[in-house]
Amino acid sequence: MNWLEVSLTVNGELAEAVADVLARFAPNGVVTEQGVGFVNEEDEGTPTGPIAVRAYLPADEQLEETRQKLEEALFYLGMIQPLPAPVYTPIPDQNWMEAWKSRYKPIPIGRRLMIVPAWMDSPDPARIPIKIDPGMAFGTGTHPTTQLCLELLEYQIEKHRTPEGYRDDVSDKEGPAPHGGDSSFAALAQNDINTAVIDLGCGSGILSIAALKLGAETALGVDIDAQALKSSRENAEANGVAERLSLGLGSVEEVRAGKFPLSQAPLVLANILAPVLVRLFDAGMADLIAPRGAIVLSGILDPQARSVIEAGEKHGLRLLEQKQIADWVALLMSKG
Ligand code: SAH
Repeated sequence: MNWLEVSLTVNGELAEAVADVLARFAPNGVVTEQGVGFVNEEDEGTPTGPIAVRAYLPADEQLEETRQKLEEALFYLGMIQPLPAPVYTPIPDQNWMEAWKSRYKPIPIGRRLMIVPAWMDSPDPARIPIKIDPGMAFGTGTHPTTQLCLELLEYQIEKHRTPEGYRDDVSDKEGPAPHGGDSSFAALAQNDINTAVIDLGCGSGILSIAALKLGAETALGVDIDAQALKSSRENAEANGVAERLSLGLGSVEEVRAGKFPLSQAPLVLANILAPVLVRLFDAGMADLIAPRGAIVLSGILDPQARSVIEAGEKHGLRLLEQKQIADWVALLMSKG
């Protein structure tokens, strides 16, 4: 099968809207890819700049019609916000997945993690490899929201291991000063955060896998998309943590109702969009956090952060940390 690659390079805020439009026409999903900048050879690389959104149309007899409809949809989106023209590249007689895979590179995250495409060996054996073959579920590790989540997850788990040793390194250079004092860390340290994690909207399973590899004993990943669960299962197997990961179809309501092995955990992770996070708080998301536990919230655009913090506060949480990459913000909030 031949394919036609459609790609648009846009800013972070537009990327999602463009991805939504392309997804309507691409049967195999959409890939987003943000550039990584390196200051020098030792630099670990920071996601910077615009995002390339790519989708692959099957080059069949409907191609011209599909392309026209796609152009129309992009035109309407362009009326709301200016868009660059899409770039079309034929991918002849080749699996587009392979074309995409060849662009996907290892990404160092935080102090100890490295996201490695499943088909590659890690270039840095000192880091814990998280092998990911996203199989078209969200969570390739290239998105800033995932990277922020992983950093706060690592921070929270490491802080537990060495309550005094971790603080200095986490402060976000771009973002506001860290919140919370040492007393909150002492309080959190009394709670065995390393025991269990609940991952809401697990996608590829990347966050659960990282938590398990960083020392969590068990994790529960839930998602409203069955494809995500399949992908999470496969990625967990590739990382040798499948036995410690439970997966279930659903969201906050199902976890609260006790449908899965865990209904509460000292650490909850939720990388979903800000308006969904606010809704999930109203659906009882804070109940999933064990007393003195914490939640990592991501998928939040800078101007939306306030609304998410307020929703958390309304449900008895307190902001501990805030990190930012480009327009994206992630929050660490604690209970009690
Ligand atoms: N956790 C991964 C994937 C994040 S993408 C990462 O951090 O990279 C967000 C995921 O949330 C998607 O897989 C989507 O299907 C799922 N999702 C969206 N709305 C949801 C909801 N209300 N409850 C649970 N999952 C949801």
